Amino acid sequence: MNERRRPRLPSVSGERGRGGAAFIDEDRLHALLRERPEAAQVRAALAKASAKEPLTVEETAALLTADDSLVEEQLAAARALKNAVYGNRIVLFAPLYVGNACVNDCTYCGFRRSNRDAVRRTLSGAELDQQTRALVRQGHKRLILVFGEHPDYDADFIADSVRQVYAVREGKGAIRRVNINAAPLDRDGYTRVRDAGIGTYQVFQETYHRATYAQVHPPKTRKGDFDWRLTSLGRAMEAGLDDVGIGALFGLYDWRFETLALVAHANHLREVYGCGPHTVSFPRLRPASGVADAHPFLPSDDELERIVATLRLAIPYTGLILTAREPAALRRRVMAYGVSQIDAGSRLELGGYTEAGDAQVQVREREQFELGDVRSLDTVMRELVADGYLPSFCTACYRLGRTGEHFMEFAIPGFIKRLCTPNALCTLEEYLVDYASPETRAAGEALIARELTALEGDKLAGKVKDRLARIATSDERDLVF
Ligand code: SF4
Ligand code: SF4
Repeated sequence: MNERRRPRLPSVSGERGRGGAAFIDEDRLHALLRERPEAAQVRAALAKASAKEPLTVEETAALLTADDSLVEEQLAAARALKNAVYGNRIVLFAPLYVGNACVNDCTYCGFRRSNRDAVRRTLSGAELDQQTRALVRQGHKRLILVFGEHPDYDADFIADSVRQVYAVREGKGAIRRVNINAAPLDRDGYTRVRDAGIGTYQVFQETYHRATYAQVHPPKTRKGDFDWRLTSLGRAMEAGLDDVGIGALFGLYDWRFETLALVAHANHLREVYGCGPHTVSFPRLRPASGVADAHPFLPSDDELERIVATLRLAIPYTGLILTAREPAALRRRVMAYGVSQIDAGSRLELGGYTEAGDAQVQVREREQFELGDVRSLDTVMRELVADGYLPSFCTACYRLGRTGEHFMEFAIPGFIKRLCTPNALCTLEEYLVDYASPETRAAGEALIARELTALEGDKLAGKVKDRLARIATSDERDLVF
């Protein structure tokens, strides 16, 4: 048995979260998607989004059903909005799989319980420490810990794992923000993980279409309860966790429906709890151990681009995450339309950050699904810089108690310029000095010089230069704005 195991399953009775699950009205969403909006209606939605106002589901449906001749306008508006809200910053993170035991039997997942070929493993405390050190040595500052759904992975176990990761010190580095992707908890469970200082708690609905949900999640499994999952992040917010992440697994059902439902979910959280989701994820189905590769609903690359653009326009204050499931070239292409966070150097195999060596060997039986982008963090950093992005490892708001950071970023004039960009520059400099290859360091320093030129004349420039010099010439780190 795992040395850190303290089994405790959440109760599903009497805890559905305020507003129940009525906010996903399938008939209404389908009806909206059958409409054919006038061009003026679509342009009105684009104008509202461009003013950084969140869209209603009706307005979002207009974007999703607009005539093909209006798609270019939508992409251009999304690109402009992304630049206005987030600038050229891209935040980097890495996933760390802690355990792949699972009581569920999701038909699309290599870790489902009926897959006898899956190699099951839960990291011991010592192994979690090793994996974390390996990620810190790559240069990472922000992780997402991933857990299957199993009695071994109760709230205390998750909280314990988070505390262990935060405690690791390796050279000049440490992990500064730990996010979670795990099964839904009850309110008490969310309180326990909140007290461990987690960043975002992610629960993806996978599909918002009930009949499809029932098909891919067998009814006698824990995950078979659609409403328990759908209301889970409401419970998290009621427990005081205001950074939550939602997502859908694209390919299970119609992409327009799932995109609209994600926006309905985001709007519900904002209306009921006063704060929308911190992030939205939109993974596409990938090949996995023992899973058929044919998926009739799988969105094309062009459709994925449209999903990103629509989400960017509809929920301008919410981070959009594009993961290494997607191949490198597509990630480069789609990023411009609204993505704010990507992972890099990722390995999905339990223990993969130390045990697989430098080569990224993908073994289906050991992974939840296959990755599309297996480049190292250093390579991704160099490419981001070459493409004009400012890679950031910033975690400042969370640690300075500026909660609801994504909302402030959106709502407070000058927030990006005064805080996000300086923090991005300082954390990039830390990466370049402590971890980068000579080529990446040269490219990154040139980018920082260009960004400093853009800051010339601003009283902030002196402060930023001072901190960059301290990072380059001393062991001082984590100099946050
Ligand atoms: Fe378990 Fe998650 Fe895989 Fe479903 S998707 S089988 S809950 S690990
Ligand atoms: Fe995010 Fe706050 Fe850093 Fe800006 S300053 S990137 S909002 S953590």
